[in-house]
Amino acid sequence: MGKIVGIDLGTTNSCIAVVEASSTAGKPEVRVIPNADGARTTPSVIGFSSTGERLVGQVAKRQATTSPATTVFAVKRLMGRKRSDPEVEKHASSVPYSVVEHSNGDAWVHVQGRDISPPQIAAMVLSALKQVADSFLGEPINEAIITVPAYFDDAQRQATKDAGKIAGLTVKRILNEPTAAALAYGLDRKEHEVIAVYDLGGGTFDISILELSGGVFSVRATGGDTHLGGEDFDVRLVDKLADEFRKQNAVDLRKDRVALQRLREAAEKAKHELSSSLETQINIPFVATGPSGPLHLERDLRRSELEILTRDLIDKTLQCCKQVLTDAKLSPKQIDQVVLVGGMTRMPAVHKAVKALFERDPNKGVDPDEVVAVGAAIQAAALSGHIDEVLLLDVTPLSIGVETGGGVFTRLIERNTTVPTEKSEIFTTSVDNQPFVPIHVLQGEREMSSDNRSLARFELTGLPPAPRGVPKIQVTFRVDSNGILSVQATDLGTGRSQSVSVSPTSGLSEAEIEQIVREADQFGKADALRKELAELRNQAETLVYTTEQALEGYADLVGEERSNDVRAALQALKALLEGDSDLATIRDAYTTLETATFELAEAIYGGESS
Ligand code: AMP
Repeated sequence: MGKIVGIDLGTTNSCIAVVEASSTAGKPEVRVIPNADGARTTPSVIGFSSTGERLVGQVAKRQATTSPATTVFAVKRLMGRKRSDPEVEKHASSVPYSVVEHSNGDAWVHVQGRDISPPQIAAMVLSALKQVADSFLGEPINEAIITVPAYFDDAQRQATKDAGKIAGLTVKRILNEPTAAALAYGLDRKEHEVIAVYDLGGGTFDISILELSGGVFSVRATGGDTHLGGEDFDVRLVDKLADEFRKQNAVDLRKDRVALQRLREAAEKAKHELSSSLETQINIPFVATGPSGPLHLERDLRRSELEILTRDLIDKTLQCCKQVLTDAKLSPKQIDQVVLVGGMTRMPAVHKAVKALFERDPNKGVDPDEVVAVGAAIQAAALSGHIDEVLLLDVTPLSIGVETGGGVFTRLIERNTTVPTEKSEIFTTSVDNQPFVPIHVLQGEREMSSDNRSLARFELTGLPPAPRGVPKIQVTFRVDSNGILSVQATDLGTGRSQSVSVSPTSGLSEAEIEQIVREADQFGKADALRKELAELRNQAETLVYTTEQALEGYADLVGEERSNDVRAALQALKALLEGDSDLATIRDAYTTLETATFELAEAIYGGESS
């Protein structure tokens, strides 16, 4: 079986890892695969340049200041979400790119005159990681395990799976991030332990309580907030700085995309610096222009100021922790280890708050940026048989149920139920001779359906005429080990069995995914062509330079006729390089000049030796 990689598709950064046989015989080793820049994590940022080129990672992040509207980041916050979702609205108003409503109500990104779905953008990050893995491992990688926050609902998981598919990866499993972290942490541990995984990343917060015992990882409870992360900390700081600036200069920096992006970057940088020092300086020269010339933003910032600004965000995470402890029926004292995941856990105030809640120092043995990808790689190796099987018992993060009379939400599968799981319920008709039963599937914790997330609607049709209450329709809900739901309905009355496959009320259809894959393929070919052209131009420029040098030094050693031939070929190639000729035309002119220079060299050396 081929290698399966583990991918942490993060809001801010992504990471890819694989388990490989150790060079020094023995234990398999988990390796984080560095990207082309040598970095072990890659920013989950995509830049669309004016020439149509697609930039991924650090280069895309760098262009964010100059081209904020065409640089897309934190797309994980839009995965599987409706545009009307208040959290999406909040996100849309805080980012410089535009978030639009697709025809099915989903949140899409609008860039360079075209609407792009979040899974497509996520797929661009995944493709870049796949390419890095292909060349690192020397074989094409086609299968992956991708992690998601435990709190992701069905639509968000489906969207993540779609992203994998678009990137040409078969997603063998969608794994919960905290479970992955526990796997990385617990690989060498044999004893029984209860651990809490506190994961505060760029865009999401997750808290899970797991029990590790003899290679079995079972999730006791999980909770979190898919719209709470480092970005919110940055926004707090950005707002404070922008408000102050407006008061002093009567200019709102948030209205200028470039200024806003510079402010965001400065705020995030200051946040990082305040994790290791008590004070830092924010300095953004020429950030705006006022009536009397350019304006600069300069300010000292103390750690305590950042802590006051963001205290309620940290408190919100603690509330989630308390809820999860209640769900798991455990007190903080019964937790043996606390594992910190995500870049935000480097903030001292976060560390302190977690320590105070659990009354113990969090474990420092795992790297918060890589631990999730490492865990995913371990699970991948177990699936492909490269290491011993580890048994994962994940849970459903949210209750799943149906809408019943009066818009009430009736739970069928309670949250924190171990997956895979299956539950059946009998439904019937509410009026005489009703030919069909409408079924509305939802996910959430609120009592009324309208307050929960709609996953799918379908109708079981073709019921024979019967008085109300008589037909018996058995509806079976199945949640697979990826946390993805499927629903089946059977008409028990007639003995006829009908399967109903649910197509989610949001997300991409199979046909749309196929179309995107085709486009991505074309894009890939265009990218390859563009790269080949850039390399050829580079080679040609070198040849032009060396030929000019040769002519200057040795033209008198060969006849005028020969040197004129070389000059003509040289001029032809130079002219092409100044325009935007295609690959074949440049290649022809290159070959002509190359042949002419070879003859020149032969004449020079031939002349010398005779
Ligand atoms: P992740 O999604 O796990 O990569 O987390 C990224 C988040 O962690 C971003 O919001 C970063 O700004 C934040 N972060 C990374 N390093 C630090 C640091 N040293 N101090 C505070 N926040 C950090």
